[in-house]
Amino acid sequence: MPKKKRQTESSVARRASPAEIRKAIEALDHALISHIQWGDALNVTLVCHLRPDERDLHENAHRECRFGQWYYNQNDCVICNSPKFLELERVHKLMHERAARLLKLSSEGQDIPMLDYVEFTGELNNLRRHTLTLKQDLEDEIYNIDALTGASSRIGMLAKLKEQHELVKRKLETCVIVMMDIDKFKLVNDKYGHLVGDRALATFADHVRRNTRPFDRLFRYGGEEFLLCVPHTDLGTAQKLIERIRCELAEIDIPCQGGDPFHITASFGITLLDADVSVSESIDRADLATYAAKQRGRNQTVIWDASMEQRKAS
Ligand code: GH3
Ligand code: MG
Ligand code: MG
Repeated sequence: MPKKKRQTESSVARRASPAEIRKAIEALDHALISHIQWGDALNVTLVCHLRPDERDLHENAHRECRFGQWYYNQNDCVICNSPKFLELERVHKLMHERAARLLKLSSEGQDIPMLDYVEFTGELNNLRRHTLTLKQDLEDEIYNIDALTGASSRIGMLAKLKEQHELVKRKLETCVIVMMDIDKFKLVNDKYGHLVGDRALATFADHVRRNTRPFDRLFRYGGEEFLLCVPHTDLGTAQKLIERIRCELAEIDIPCQGGDPFHITASFGITLLDADVSVSESIDRADLATYAAKQRGRNQTVIWDASMEQRKAS
C-alpha cells in the first residue's frame, strides 16, 4: 500500500492575507465612489428632467451599475462569506428599484411624491452605511491580526464571543469554543531555537485555519495557546473536527535547518458557549478541559463537564 503522504509546510494554504484584504478594501472603495457619483448623476437627471440612462430602468439595473459589477464579480472568499456582504445585495437591489420608479415618473413628466423620494434616499443611505460597515469589518481584520500566526489577536476576541453569545441566548445558534495549547512547546524552543519555535506556531495556526470554515475564527489567546470559535456547530461535530485537526497536526513535518523535520502535538479543551453563563465562564470551562487533557497525557481532546469544576474547587 502506498505510504500516506505527509503534510509539509509548503502544502499549507493560507486564508485571506492582509495584502488580499487591503486589495478588497481598495476595490470596495472604488465601488462606493462610483456609487456616490451614480447617485449624484441620478439627482441631476431627476431635478433637470433629463432623459434617464436606459440601464437604470432595467430590471437588472443593480447588476449593471458599476457597484453591481464589483459586487457580482467577487468570487474569492475575502468578503463573500460575510453576512454583511450578502445583505448588501438586498439593499442594493431595493435601492435600484426605488430609483427606477423615480426615473420613470420623471421621464413621464409626472411629479415625484415626496414619500417616494424620501424612501429612495433612505435606501441610498442604507446602502452606503452597509458598505462602510463591511469596510470597517475588513479593516478590523487587518489591524487585529497577530503578525506571527495570522490568527486574530486577542483584542477583539471578547467582543466577537459576546456577539455569538447573544445569538446563542436568542436560540438562533449553537456555538462551540475550543481552547488549544501546544504540548511541551518550551522544549521546542529549547531544542531548536526561538525562530524555529515561531515557525511551528505559524504552522499550527495555518493547519487549524486550513481545516476550518471561513466564519470559524481562530484567536491567538496568548503564547502557544489559541482559542477557536466554531459557530453553527454542536459538541459532537466539533469534537470530530478537532480530533481530525489533532491527528493530522502530529503528521506535519516542521523543517529545521541541519536536522530531521520534527512534529508537534497539542491538547484541546472543548465546550459549548453556554447561554446561561458568562462568556468568560465558558472560556474558563474550555481552559479546564484543556488542563484535563494535559493531565491525561497531552495530545488529546477533552470535552468539559461539570465534574471538572468540583475537582477544581476541592
Ligand atoms: P504544556 O504541554 O504543559 O503546555 O508545556 P509548554 O512547554 O507548552 O508550556 P509552558 O507554559 O511551560 O511553555 C510555553 C512556552 O511557549 C514558553 C514560551 O517561551 C513559548 N512561547 C510563547 N510564545 C511564543 C512565541 O511567540 N514564540 C516562541 N518561539 N515561543 C513562544
Ligand atoms: Mg500554555
Ligand atoms: Mg503548551
